[in-house]
Amino acid sequence: MVADTFEKLNADCLACHKCSIAGNRHHVVIFSGNLNAKVMFIGEGPGENEDLQGEPFVGKAGQFLTTMLELIGIDRKKDIYICNVIKCRPPQNRDPSMEERQSCRPFLDRQIDLIQPELIVLLGRIAATELLGSDFRITQQHGQMLSYKGIPCIATYHPSALLRDETKRPEAFSDFRTIRKEIQNRNLL
Ligand code: URA
Repeated sequence: MVADTFEKLNADCLACHKCSIAGNRHHVVIFSGNLNAKVMFIGEGPGENEDLQGEPFVGKAGQFLTTMLELIGIDRKKDIYICNVIKCRPPQNRDPSMEERQSCRPFLDRQIDLIQPELIVLLGRIAATELLGSDFRITQQHGQMLSYKGIPCIATYHPSALLRDETKRPEAFSDFRTIRKEIQNRNLL
């Protein structure tokens, strides 16, 4: 089998029309950050700003994520790789359907195989259930160190949820402190 590359992955994502939301996109939103990062953050899917700019987490939720990352000493361009479960924006930012998640899943699997992260951070319920199974409960299991196919993995609240509901922020900051500790202990920067 021919080895996969970031270039092939990009080309395949750009050519993809496997599900119906591909037809409405301005951009396929594949990733941002460092291709050599050891830490991978996975969100849900592009919103309006991400669709227009072609980059994950550039809207309000993205700005909040950037601030949280800065608070734990992470530069999102240099230190981590950021992507989403699905690569095209669902209309009106609705949750991605199971069909859309399934169509896009091979791209996420290829991203994980190419990056070979040593820590995965799942942002929100959709990303967490995608990798950890439909039984995962973000309200109860956020902040726990778990494993995805042997890769250390932790889920936390989605930054949009933190913008909507300030009461969740202290728990999320505690999760981010755990993330920082794991990064330090495992020498991942
Ligand atoms: N929300 C996400 O899950 N991903 C983005 O890229 C932007 C907002």
